[in-house]
Amino acid sequence: MSVLEASAGLVIKKPMVANIDLLDGKPSLIGITREEMAEALMDIGVPQKQAKMRVSQLWNWLYVRGVSDFDHMTNVAKDLREKLKTHFTIARPEIVEEQVSNDGTRKWLMRFPPRGAGRPVEIETVYIPEEGRGTLCISSQVGCTLTCSFCHTGTQRLVRNLTAEEILAQLLVARDRLGDFPDREAPQGTIMPAEGRKVSNIVMMGMGEPLYNFEHVKTALLIATDGDGLSLSKRRVTLSTSGVVPEIFRTGEEIGVMLAISLHAVRDELRDMLVPINKKYPLKELIDACRNYPGVSNARRITFEYVMLKDVNDSLEDAKMLTQLLKGVPAKINLIPFNPWPGTNYQCSDWEQIEKFADFINHAGYASPIRTPRGRDILAACGQLKSESERMRKTERMAFEAMMIANHGADD
Ligand code: SF4
Repeated sequence: MSVLEASAGLVIKKPMVANIDLLDGKPSLIGITREEMAEALMDIGVPQKQAKMRVSQLWNWLYVRGVSDFDHMTNVAKDLREKLKTHFTIARPEIVEEQVSNDGTRKWLMRFPPRGAGRPVEIETVYIPEEGRGTLCISSQVGCTLTCSFCHTGTQRLVRNLTAEEILAQLLVARDRLGDFPDREAPQGTIMPAEGRKVSNIVMMGMGEPLYNFEHVKTALLIATDGDGLSLSKRRVTLSTSGVVPEIFRTGEEIGVMLAISLHAVRDELRDMLVPINKKYPLKELIDACRNYPGVSNARRITFEYVMLKDVNDSLEDAKMLTQLLKGVPAKINLIPFNPWPGTNYQCSDWEQIEKFADFINHAGYASPIRTPRGRDILAACGQLKSESERMRKTERMAFEAMMIANHGADD
């Protein structure tokens, strides 16, 4: 057994849902608007005057009850269920692998069937249970075009954008597996918040840049926050961007969720290297867009993510410049100890330095929590995701394991 497997509480590695329907190429009823669903139903012969009522019924079964089989829709007439089965699918994607970290973090590798002439694609979704909340980190693209130099996903070329259905499917699968739908139970030993919803928050911080897939992300998040469906509060949904400035205002106007910025550097020369999109949209433009984010206030602050890289961006001079840069922006700064991955040249800042950095910012009046690394042992932590379609080669894995052992020694 490898160190990775030994340190994880449990590793399940088996296909769980054979997504036959989708392989047959039927369109899904998941991830479309009510209007689109009504059109789809009328196309198969549902009378126009019934369409609205049928949409409400289906919406409830899909998003409140979480069913993935038309036969479970007991208040829908049998002949209509048969028609729905013939023309549409509501099947879940295949779970290729589920890994559980020893801190309770879960990572799912999901496989989506081909779209048109394409190939099946795999993406990762991570669940992080904490006291009083459970956060799901959702992917928006397969791979990424942005090549942020500290990010593992950035080393995987972009395969394609995920559809709204595929983005929502990540939430539905997580709620299935965590027993977060009525009449569903979580596997024994699952670590979850003691009360309330098991998935209480979502963050678009998985693989990909969500604002390069704006329309699909928008549709999915509007369904996730729909009061008659998955019903997540918009204050509990955060979209994180590396800084696609032209789409930031629209995000606030059209989706209305919380905003996070992958900042990581306060000087353009350094940010050009760490987050190369900065060459196109430099810091001044980015911070101006944040100042103008619809709804921003002290009660709805923007989160700035700042990965702590040893001797790169972690000096007190950087901390000082950070507070100057964010002057006048209602902000919270999340400090993220760098999470190692195979092949990286960066190191995590020393803990003492992270604390000094946090204290400096805190004294300047900004909340500056240090994010506890979660799920590092299963490569589920921030910046570590990379779908296993690009599986680690044996040599990479051995190097990573050695690095984890070294890091554990340092932590102790
Ligand atoms: S940090 Fe985000 S935007 Fe940058 S490479 Fe990674 S996934 Fe892409």
